[in-house]
Amino acid sequence: MGKPRILIAGAGIGGIVAALALLQRGFEVALYEQAAELRELGAGVQISPNGSRVLRALGLLPAMDAIAAVPTHRELRLFNTGQAWRVSELATSAERYGAPYWQVHRGDFHAVLVQALAERAPGAVQVGARCQGFEQNMDSVTLMLETGETSRGAALIGADGVHSHVREALFGGTPATFTGFMAWRGVVPMQRLPDRLHQRHAATWIGPYGHVVTYPLRRGELLNLVTAVPRDDWLVESWSEAGTAAECHRDLSQFHPDVLAVVDAIDVPYKWAMLGREPMRRWSAGRVSLLGDACHPTLPFLAQGANMAIEDGMVLARCLDRYAVPEALRRYEAARLERTSRIVRGSLDAVANMHHPELADPALAPAFMEREFAPRVMNARADWLYEYDALSVVV
Ligand SMILES: Cc1cc2nc3c(=O)[nH]c(=O)nc-3n(C[C@H](O)[C@H](O)[C@H](O)COP(=O)(O)OP(=O)(O)OC[C@H]3O[C@@H](n4cnc5c(N)ncnc54)[C@H](O)[C@@H]3O)c2cc1C
Repeated sequence: MGKPRILIAGAGIGGIVAALALLQRGFEVALYEQAAELRELGAGVQISPNGSRVLRALGLLPAMDAIAAVPTHRELRLFNTGQAWRVSELATSAERYGAPYWQVHRGDFHAVLVQALAERAPGAVQVGARCQGFEQNMDSVTLMLETGETSRGAALIGADGVHSHVREALFGGTPATFTGFMAWRGVVPMQRLPDRLHQRHAATWIGPYGHVVTYPLRRGELLNLVTAVPRDDWLVESWSEAGTAAECHRDLSQFHPDVLAVVDAIDVPYKWAMLGREPMRRWSAGRVSLLGDACHPTLPFLAQGANMAIEDGMVLARCLDRYAVPEALRRYEAARLERTSRIVRGSLDAVANMHHPELADPALAPAFMEREFAPRVMNARADWLYEYDALSVVV
């Protein structure tokens, strides 16, 4: 008997990675995506070794090499004086962790995933297909689309993002608390910037009340900027709300002129209210489970949201390969719950040492940097994140 048919709601990063891992193990997959076309808005995402080793196992190394920037190192800079500290090496990630560190444009990355899926399972994704409910019994689950169509499979995976409809249908609303921070995100062609700002490393500008991260994308052709700044008048949790460079400049006016030069070169910066959520205690019920932001939405301060979604996809596929539904979904959740909860909490906590009163005084900052961000401290912080191997973790 062939392997069962798995339904996936949402064709974002997590949904497609899960589909590729399932296809690799001989499953039939059917993805339902609400958007009319498969594309991602422009902004950067960092893929750390815990994510890249999964993508490599899915045969995506050449395609990722063609679109990624491999940063040399990470540096922290003081928000006002620009004083810099080299805190970790990233180009040597493959030696230290066995897999590379990549910085990619979300659109490029998503296109790689879409292309792989189209080659391996033509027609597996239905677009313009908004999932609005499901019913399950002992043998199967039936997904209902807004169009009135239905689809039946052995399991349904809600990979439908932070505002997951499948999560809501399973467990009701999830409380979210506004952090008081808003993110600005934007991308600039490197050529538009003066030579001194052509960076091959990742930089995080930290200060007493906010931070700014810049890093190269697309083999160094683009520079990505993402910030966290205090704002109490912007509560929309969306990745597609456009602002203006002038508004972004105003929010960052205390920052170094080099940061403002990047901001001024952005055509359209996007703004996003940062909401924090407590980790969920469970996310599967019978033949239905969740994946990615649907079950562990996180703040971006450890840059692990996409990486967790990638890990989920591989662990889920390994569980379905080994156990029957619903046992497989219970095993998947059990294998993932502790790690993802720790990352979600760690992301909430990480802001405390990136926004710190001691950073207001350039005389106090060096001691603070040594205590909080010395390379040995940074490595200890990164090791447990980057060493995780979704291909071999016990399921
Ligand atoms: C500013 C910022 C910076 C970030 N930086 C990083 C980083 O450096 N590293 C990192 O690892 N992560 C980062 N992340 C997080 C990362 O982008 C997300 O965690 C990741 O995209 C989650 O993937 P997903 O597939 O779970 O959800 P999504 O990518 O949101 O995909 C969900 C998909 O489901 C679809 N959908 C929604 N509802 C329905 C429905 N009812 N029916 C059908 N389809 C539906 C959506 O259209 C979408 O295509 C960042 C996020 C932000 C906002």
